Amino acid sequence: MDLTFTRSPLDHAGLFRGDPDWIDGLMADPSARVLALSGGAPLPGPDGAPLALTVPEAQARALPPGLVFLGLEDGAPWFAATVEGEALDFRRAAMTAPPGLAAIMGRARSMLMWHGRRRFCSNCGAENTVRDGGARLVCPSCGMEHFPRTDPSVIMLAHHGDRAVLGRQPGWPEGMYATLAGFMEPGETIEEACAREVFEETGLRVTAARYVASQPWPFPSSLMIGLIAEVADGAPVARDDLEDARWFTRAETRVLYEDVMARWAPPHFSVSRLLIETWLKM
Ligand SMILES: [Zn+2]
Repeated sequence: MDLTFTRSPLDHAGLFRGDPDWIDGLMADPSARVLALSGGAPLPGPDGAPLALTVPEAQARALPPGLVFLGLEDGAPWFAATVEGEALDFRRAAMTAPPGLAAIMGRARSMLMWHGRRRFCSNCGAENTVRDGGARLVCPSCGMEHFPRTDPSVIMLAHHGDRAVLGRQPGWPEGMYATLAGFMEPGETIEEACAREVFEETGLRVTAARYVASQPWPFPSSLMIGLIAEVADGAPVARDDLEDARWFTRAETRVLYEDVMARWAPPHFSVSRLLIETWLKM
């Protein structure tokens, strides 16, 4: 099964969405649906699934910035809007939604949470004007353009021979350990970010790293770049945001994967699980 939030069915229509008349035409399309979110999470519909409104229903309830265009699914327009109401738990809703809808929900959440933080220009403080169906903001005062953010993060299964080094953060369920991860910093390659994060979190030195897969991660708008990294042998020392980091044998890793992690989330929910699964098969 594909990773959650990947393989979105949406065509973002980047060549067309700059035309306001084209967006108006989509809003008049009877097949248009609007995902209704509150605080970045979908509201429950009558059947408990994420609520999809018609355009007129959404226009009557939408808070600023109004309807944001997400893309076309087989020609049918999808929008998202922030409305008032009690939302579902986003993680739970994404775990149980059909894969295509989960990807649409992830994009909706990232876009609306970005709009929520960028209503005013970060350069001069004037109120931004929405352009391109919500894919761009322009400041009417200083002219600065603002585009939705994606924050790249590296996430890696670090190993030395038959052992993997995994870490745990404070507050996690008992026995839970996971792959190391952290945000990339300006001026780094993906491999350099991987080496820096492993060293910061465990004190171990990466000797090689290879890319495995990536996953949009709408908390609120990251891109998880998954790698398998070889590290030099040594004793890991938990640092940075970890409360513990230690070596796991393949057998211990398999137990963690099949038992502890399985209670936390389904295997397709995070690239962390895919990296562990990939290493176990190596
Ligand atoms: Zn400005």
